[in-house]
Amino acid sequence: MAQEDCLFCKIVKGEVPAEIVRESERAVAFRDINPQAPTHVLVIPREHYPTAAEAAAADTGLLDEIVRVAHEVAAAEDVADQGYRLVFNTGSGAGQTVFHLHGHLLGGRGLNWPPG
Ligand code: C5P
Repeated sequence: MAQEDCLFCKIVKGEVPAEIVRESERAVAFRDINPQAPTHVLVIPREHYPTAAEAAAADTGLLDEIVRVAHEVAAAEDVADQGYRLVFNTGSGAGQTVFHLHGHLLGGRGLNWPPG
């Protein structure tokens, strides 16, 4: 169920513009407006879950689809072979600012560890 005041629900509904790069039955992938890498795409479910943990607890298979779509985008952008990162910030202490589950797909440059 969409949340009235959720920015990413509005992107799913087409009410807020986004550069969508891939769609599947249950997921939408679009470019982050403030990219941190040459490829920085957010993969989100059409349905509203605040965090990855809540989606995992409630909805078997949804995170599999998020990961699958992220890998398809990485392959399409030619960053899969060199390696990419898929990050789920969970909670404001970890930097989550939009409380609609999203995986950050980051690739196309060297990625340090630990991420900081
Ligand atoms: O993990 P976090 O919640 O901080 O990530 C939210 C991300 O959503 C940010 O990277 C921000 O740049 C992105 N964003 C976006 N389009 C918007 C608003 C935020 O891509 N309209």
